[in-house]
Amino acid sequence: MKTAVLGLGLMGAEIALRLKRQGRDVLCWNRSAERSEAARERGLAARATATEAIAESEITLLVLSDAEAIRATLFESGDADALDGRILIQMGTIAPRESREIAGRVAAQGGQYLEAPVLGSLPEAREGRLILMAGGDPELFEHCLPVFRDLSRDPQRIGEIGQGAAMKLAMNQLIAGLTSTFALSLGLVRREEIDVEQFMGLLRDSALYAKTFDKKLDKYLSHEYGAANFPLKHLLKDVRLFKQVAEESFLDTALIGAIEDSCRQAEALGFGDQDYSALYEALCPDPYGPSS
Ligand code: NAP
Repeated sequence: MKTAVLGLGLMGAEIALRLKRQGRDVLCWNRSAERSEAARERGLAARATATEAIAESEITLLVLSDAEAIRATLFESGDADALDGRILIQMGTIAPRESREIAGRVAAQGGQYLEAPVLGSLPEAREGRLILMAGGDPELFEHCLPVFRDLSRDPQRIGEIGQGAAMKLAMNQLIAGLTSTFALSLGLVRREEIDVEQFMGLLRDSALYAKTFDKKLDKYLSHEYGAANFPLKHLLKDVRLFKQVAEESFLDTALIGAIEDSCRQAEALGFGDQDYSALYEALCPDPYGPSS
């Protein structure tokens, strides 16, 4: 099954390389030429336009930043037949309503649409260990399973279009929530000059522990958040999406609103492109200033 990957950012490039390593015939496209060139240097075939990549492939994976990027890529080529008979798989983190709207537009142009957002980052993409949460037609899901199995050990269909997107947002709300609450507890431990390893030891033995705490611990302790797999600006995007969906679903948004404020503060401090755990810097600012 010839597969196109549109969007060669952090995730798109890793997904394309994984599929190629799995023996698939992969074609890529990226809006900016630099990333296409970098992909060619890594052995991937790249096309100059999204329309060319879609036309040459049976399945097209969209690994783009947000719904705006998807609309620009799919619907602004000027070629009304570009999606006719094609299969489009949306893998980014977008709102359920956005996914349904894009699905409707794809269908109106004669294409088939499935959403398949993923939990996990670059190492998981590299090793085919992403958690894939699909939404859409069951037969189309079955048809695409061989590609999904190259990326995920247990790709699951959650339900209809929008339900996969909602599941993904539910997961990412946990990333934001766990990161914020752990950062605050660690901040208090450090302010009180308690031994961090003693705190972690007790936490690891308790029902409150989550693996992400240890995974990011070095970053909190060193205040070094570089080399982001999942940058803070994307977490902010997802927190905003969750808040919007929560509002529409009549859930209380006070907590997610507070987390959004903290993400925004961390971005204003210059951490937007760094690892999302830099949220710590907004929640636990140094009382003596950044230089101390
Ligand atoms: P990224 O590194 O920022 O890459 C974004 C991609 O979208 C780039 O290829 C970019 O092209 C393209 N793009 C942005 N605006 C565009 C537009 N208007 N038209 C066409 N292309 C556009 O993002 P990423 O980390 O790969 O994430 C991609 C999606 O997956 C996001 O929805 C993210 O939330 C989700 N996700 C990310 C991770 C992760 O760990 N990074 C994990 C799970 C899910 P240019 O190069 O031209 O800017």
